Amino acid sequence: MEAGPPDRARLIRTPLAFPKMFQTPLDWNFWTEPQVGLANRHLYWPRGKMLGGSGSINGMVHMQACAADFAEWDAPGWEAMPADLLHSEPVAELNPLSAAFLDACEAAGLPGAAAITDASQPVAAPFRLNIKNGKRWSAADAYLRPALQRGNLTVWTSVHVRRVLCEGTRASGVEYSRAGVVQTVAVTREIVLCAGAVGSPHLLLLSGIGPAADLEACGVAVVADVAGVGRNLQDHLAAPVSYFCLEPVSFSGAATFANEWKYRLTGTGPLASNGAEVGAMVQSKAGLAACDLEIVFAAGHYVDHGFAAPGGHGFSLIPVLLTPKSRGRIRLASANPDDAPRIDPGYLSDATDLERLSEGVRFARRLLEQAALAKYRGAPVNGQVLDAEEHVRQWGQTLYHPTGSCGMGSVVDAGLRVLGVAGLRVADASVMPQVPRAHPNAATLWIAERAAQLLRA
Ligand SMILES: Cc1cc2nc3c(=O)[nH]c(=O)nc-3n(C[C@H](O)[C@H](O)[C@H](O)COP(=O)(O)OP(=O)(O)OC[C@H]3O[C@@H](n4cnc5c(N)ncnc54)[C@H](O)[C@@H]3O)c2cc1C
Repeated sequence: MEAGPPDRARLIRTPLAFPKMFQTPLDWNFWTEPQVGLANRHLYWPRGKMLGGSGSINGMVHMQACAADFAEWDAPGWEAMPADLLHSEPVAELNPLSAAFLDACEAAGLPGAAAITDASQPVAAPFRLNIKNGKRWSAADAYLRPALQRGNLTVWTSVHVRRVLCEGTRASGVEYSRAGVVQTVAVTREIVLCAGAVGSPHLLLLSGIGPAADLEACGVAVVADVAGVGRNLQDHLAAPVSYFCLEPVSFSGAATFANEWKYRLTGTGPLASNGAEVGAMVQSKAGLAACDLEIVFAAGHYVDHGFAAPGGHGFSLIPVLLTPKSRGRIRLASANPDDAPRIDPGYLSDATDLERLSEGVRFARRLLEQAALAKYRGAPVNGQVLDAEEHVRQWGQTLYHPTGSCGMGSVVDAGLRVLGVAGLRVADASVMPQVPRAHPNAATLWIAERAAQLLRA
C-alpha cells in the first residue's frame, strides 16, 4: 500500500533532475519545527511519495554502513551487510570540478581510492551511484518490478494508510483512504510498516501505539504504551559552502535542449550524473573508530536544496556530520491522519555536534585554498564568509537521512516486531538504533533483506 503514484515520471529516471521533484506531488514536503540551534529556522524535509519511496527521489549515493556502526547498533548478525544489495557504479566521466575536488583533497593529504565504499578510513574518491545505463536504479527497479507478476503480491498505489487497527493488542487490519474514501482491510497474518522514519512512527502514534500521555493528549485511545515511538530521531546535518565558479564547467544550467536530447538519445552527458559525483570521508580529530565527517562535493549550485538560483556557474562543498549526538522527536500534531506530524530533529541540541560540524566547514574552506579548486573559485554565493559556527547556524540543512524514530530495542525487537503488539513489524530506516556513518539507503535495503529473512523464518 503506497500513498504515492507509480514511479513512471521522467524526472525520477534522470539522475541530475532529483531536486526538480522537491515540493511536487512526488514529495511529502515535510517541514520541521523551528530549530533553536539553527537560528530558529523551520527546515524543509523532502521525502519521496511514490513507488521506491525516498529511493526514487534521493541523490543515489551508495555507501555501506561500517563495522563501527554495527558495533554501536549492538544487534548481533547485522554486521554481515552485503556490498551489492543494489547496483551501483561511479560516473563514467567526472566533471572537471569533481576532478579538481579530488586533486585538492590529495594536496590536503587525503588518500585516494577507486571509490568510497564506507566511512571506515579517511579517503577522497568518486561515490558509487545507483545509476544503470544513465538512469536511476531504485529498490523499486531492482526488487519490486521483477516480483510484480507473483501471485502472492498485490501493489496498491495512491492509497494513504491512516492507521493500523487492533483487536486488543493484536494488529487486525488497516484503515486507508483512496480517492478521499476511507476503507478498511482485515489482516489475518502480519502487517509490516515501511513508511519511513517520519511515516512509520506517525502511523504507530495514530494507531494508539506510543507514549500514553502524548496519545491521550491528542485524543487517541491507547493500545500499547511504548515510550520510544518517535523518539531517538537522528539526521545528518549538512552546512553547504557554496561558491560561484569562474569557468563555465559546472552542472548549473545543464538542463539545456542539447543536453536533454543527448541524454534521451544516448543516456550520457551532464543529465546522467547526480551532480555529486565525489566526496571525502574525514575525521574531526585523530584516533576515532571511523570517520565522523564527510564532505560531499556538488559540481553545481546547491543552495536552499536547489531552489535558490544564484545565476551563472557554481559549486558547493557540503560538510556533513556523520555521528550526531543530538536526538529529536516525531509527535502527533493531531489525531487526524491527514495532518503531518510535528518533526523536531533537535539539531545541535548536543553542543559537540556544532563543534564537529564547524570543523568540517573549516576543512572545506582549507580545500578551497588548494590550487586545484582555487583556480575555479569566484565569490561566495552567500555573500559573506561567516565564522564557521555561525555558518552552520545560518546555513545548516538536512542531508535527508532521518532514522531512528522506531529504534531497535526501544520500539521494535531484534525481529523487528513492535513491542507489546502482536502481528506488527516495522522494516525501514526508522528501526536503525543509530544513523550509520553512511548515506543510509543501502543500510535500509539491508533492513529489508533481514525483514524478508525473518518473515520467511
Ligand atoms: C532528497 C533525498 C536525497 C537522499 N540522498 C540519498 C543518497 O544519495 N544516498 C542514500 O543512501 N540515501 C539518500 N537519501 C535517504 C534514503 O533515500 C532513505 O534513507 C531511504 O529511502 C529510506 O527508506 P525508507 O524505506 O525508510 O523510507 P522511504 O524511502 O521514505 O519510503 C517510505 C514510503 O512509504 C510511503 N508512505 C509513507 N507514509 C505512508 C502512508 N501513510 N500510507 C501509504 N504510504 C506511505 C512513502 O510514500 C514512501 O514511498 C536521500 C533522501 C532524500 C529524501
